[in-house]
Amino acid sequence: MGAFNVVKVERTCPSCNETVELRVQFKYGDTWQYEYRIGDRLRWGGNDTGKPGAKRVVVYGIDEHCPYCGLEEGDYEVWLENDVIVSVQPSTGAYDFVNTQEVYIVVEQ
Ligand SMILES: [Zn+2]
Repeated sequence: MGAFNVVKVERTCPSCNETVELRVQFKYGDTWQYEYRIGDRLRWGGNDTGKPGAKRVVVYGIDEHCPYCGLEEGDYEVWLENDVIVSVQPSTGAYDFVNTQEVYIVVEQ
C-alpha cells in the first residue's frame, strides 16, 4: 500500500478473545504513518490523498494481524465526516474498492 495512516480501535478479538488494539491501515488525508483514533480530525498539507472537507467519505482499510493469535480479518471501511474519523467497521461489501481501484469514495460532497 506504500505510505498509509493507521486508525487504532480497541476491541475483543473474535478468535482468541483477547482485548486488542486493532490497527487499520488506510490512505486518506496527509498520508504519512500518522496514527489516529475515532473522533480525530485528519491532517492535510503533505502527501495528500482525497478531498479535504468532503462531507461523508468511506475509505478502504486493511487490518494488521492480531498480536496474540495472528488473525487477519481483511477489509475494513473507515468512515469520515468532514475529515473526522467517525467509525471503523468490517467491510460490508457495499463499496467495491477492489474492482474500482479506488482507496476512497466520496459518498456526500
Ligand atoms: Zn486474536
